[in-house]
Amino acid sequence: MSNSPPAMLYHFGPAHNACGLADSQAIGLRAAFLAEFANLNANVPPGFVLTVDTSNQLSKGKLPVEVAMAIGAALAKLAEDAGQKFGDANNPLILSVRPSPRHAISGTMEAILNIGLNDQTVEGFARHASDPSLAFDCYRRLVQNYAHVVLGDDAAVFDDLIGLYLGERGYASIEELKGSDARDLMQRFQAQVESHGEVFPQDVMQQLTSAIIALARTWSAPRAKTNRKIIGIAEDDAGLAIVVQVMRFGNRAEKSGAGVATLHTNASGDTKLAGNWWSQTQGPDRLTAIRPPVLLDQFAIDLPDAANDLVAALEASKAHFRDFMEVEFTVEQGKLSLLDVKPQSRSPALALAMAVALVEQELIDEGEALLRIDPLSLGPVLHTTVDPTAKKEVIAAGLPASPGAATGAIIFDTEDARRRAAAGERIILVRSETLPEDIRALSVVEGILTTRGGTTSHAAVIARGMGKPCVAGAGSLRIDAIEETLTAPGFTLKKGDLITIDGSSGQVLMGEVSILKPSLSGDLVRVLSWADKIRRMKVRANAETPQEARIAKDFGAEGIGLCRTEHMFFDGDRIVAMREMILADRERDRRAALAKILPMLKKDFITLFEIMAQFPVTLRLLDPPLHEFLPEGGQELEAVAQSLGVPAATLRKRVVELQEQNPMLGHRGVRLLLTYPEITDMQARAIFEAAAEVFKANGKMPVAEIMVPLVASRAELELVKSRIVAVATDVEAETGVKLVYHVGTMIELPRAALKAADIAQAADFFSFGTNDLTQTTFGISRDDSGRFIGEYTTRGILAHDPFVTIDREGVGELIRFAISNGREMKPDLALGICGEHGGDPDSIAFWEELGLDYVSCSPFRVPIARLAAAQATLRKA
Ligand code: PEP
Ligand code: MG
Repeated sequence: MSNSPPAMLYHFGPAHNACGLADSQAIGLRAAFLAEFANLNANVPPGFVLTVDTSNQLSKGKLPVEVAMAIGAALAKLAEDAGQKFGDANNPLILSVRPSPRHAISGTMEAILNIGLNDQTVEGFARHASDPSLAFDCYRRLVQNYAHVVLGDDAAVFDDLIGLYLGERGYASIEELKGSDARDLMQRFQAQVESHGEVFPQDVMQQLTSAIIALARTWSAPRAKTNRKIIGIAEDDAGLAIVVQVMRFGNRAEKSGAGVATLHTNASGDTKLAGNWWSQTQGPDRLTAIRPPVLLDQFAIDLPDAANDLVAALEASKAHFRDFMEVEFTVEQGKLSLLDVKPQSRSPALALAMAVALVEQELIDEGEALLRIDPLSLGPVLHTTVDPTAKKEVIAAGLPASPGAATGAIIFDTEDARRRAAAGERIILVRSETLPEDIRALSVVEGILTTRGGTTSHAAVIARGMGKPCVAGAGSLRIDAIEETLTAPGFTLKKGDLITIDGSSGQVLMGEVSILKPSLSGDLVRVLSWADKIRRMKVRANAETPQEARIAKDFGAEGIGLCRTEHMFFDGDRIVAMREMILADRERDRRAALAKILPMLKKDFITLFEIMAQFPVTLRLLDPPLHEFLPEGGQELEAVAQSLGVPAATLRKRVVELQEQNPMLGHRGVRLLLTYPEITDMQARAIFEAAAEVFKANGKMPVAEIMVPLVASRAELELVKSRIVAVATDVEAETGVKLVYHVGTMIELPRAALKAADIAQAADFFSFGTNDLTQTTFGISRDDSGRFIGEYTTRGILAHDPFVTIDREGVGELIRFAISNGREMKPDLALGICGEHGGDPDSIAFWEELGLDYVSCSPFRVPIARLAAAQATLRKA
């Protein structure tokens, strides 16, 4: 920026601009792009822009003297350049006032066109342009525009007046308006304004300043602030500059019109205009959709010179801005003017295709291409989405717990859901919250809706792992399990009724809504291959089943960072043996029950090792409290007791014994492993025997990483580790295979982070369990946070949901402390993260800052994490 001290306004026009894109904070995106575009000799009508700071001063509704003086001087300069004077009765300068926000927010604010026309100047304009209908058409547009934006009148009233007028005259369409019609309509519009005591100002300076102030006030109104909040623009970063620009008249009779255009390059390198064109019009007609547009093919035939200039301008803008651009243009008697230029809007798939094209055309390098893609925008490319054009009725909103969309019949009972899904029905399982045991149903239904729970609740974690849509914590819905109904104010749905859930937005929709399939493209593969060359951190996946592991591998995972082995205990015969183990009173009986599970687990581990080949596989020993493996009560309990061959009373007694007040803080993780060391023995044996078998079969030694959950002290880890090492020694002796394995721990309790130096002495690696670490640091239950955390973020108490994006200041500090102390004690300590924050782009930037070796996330997040990790490396460099 060359002007200093800070200017109140900046001029722009053909090739003489002291401002450009670098000034977008001061002058907003529209003005910044336009000024820079004009410097490329694009025919941008001259104008000036009131800076964000200046327009902030106007939001109270007054025009400070110094601003009025600056506007006066700017108008004098414009008049000199244009050879016309503002308010001149013979040849008036006519202006537009347009918003220029700092962020791309389209369609929220209207421009005001044709400022400078009044009962006198309109006559001069008519004479000078030799076109009275043009002059009066512009004037009536100004009256309508002004009445709507400045005086707050309903724009539709004026559209109705046009309709009435057409009817009176017997015209079929607006194109038939001619000659004196424009004058008549203008007078009716003026009378309409006056009919409720308002006056359209004849003073052109008043028109201009009122229009400017109206835009400034609209911007600072509560409604605009709410809109910005919804689209995620922080208020301290938001700002509106205001552009005042010389008008061009696309509403002339001959060779005139307005349009929007982009340039498309096809596979053979030919470029072609794409977009829409409306002849004989000014901008706002398009918005009111009074007339359908014509494709630009016809425009190129009708106005070949203007079309050539348009292609040249688009090409120049692409080369200069190094992006695919979209321009808004006007043609006045065959001459092209460019009114707006901005990066072309793009779907996630198109963004990838454009990134690849720009790199191929050597306009940007791979690093820049990567930085331009929002990692989270890859979600829709990887998941099903609700068709954005479909009609939908939102019946509830919950948390977007697992992306993707699904339609199905609502079923409340897990077993019923399982049976129906197995018979081919599309089912949405609806539960207050899910239990680990529900996993069997989760694997066959289309999606999951819960009325409780947050984004790291059990249902959410499982659903993400499986790539199934999940809406969690839809608190406005009530489940009546007896009647099998789902109600909310205004409606009741019965078992079997269809709903659609959108796990990307958290919306629950009535009935069947059209769903779009994901389209994995070569462009995505290409972009991710660039990311892989750049990123420093490895990306692993949280995966348990072979299916998840395969998906993860296909998405580029470099190993498994977390296999929650408890998920392997729920299927088929395993849960029966597990329950036998839990019910057993003696160690001998427990071992006998576990021995039944061992071969099944071993088989799973072999498959995981084979899929991941040379990559490490981190297997976490059993984590949840034992009561989660038992039925809650009722019919299910009776059935389980029968299948186990024990009296229902015995089972009920054991269930009660195992019940805890706070299972999350109770007998789980390493505490369980210490009480029942035979569980550790069995799991370690299954892992090591599997590794030895894979080695014997293909000569490649799997890298097993055994991870102990919920450790708070070195002693806990050492006790469990000694058993693991003992089993390894036994298996080596039995098989003759020298195993490769590491023993490490999760750091998921504040005490573990504080005692990291100590714990590091017993650990080969740390993996940060940020779900539990966030839960225990904040003292907020991860399963209940959904009920109130929204209030924290809406009111700005927390900037983000800490279960989604890592709380750098609190939880992050503990992690930083643990890393520095852990590595000081053991420089080669391997470090990773396997909580849900391993797949969140903002958090990934933090992991890069802290120097973690890898992130681990759910399989469908792997591509997002690869891109985010590359961006983090690029931004750190
Ligand atoms: C964690 O707590 O962050 C973690 C990965 O473990 P889980 O979600 O299984 O408790
Ligand atoms: Mg945990």
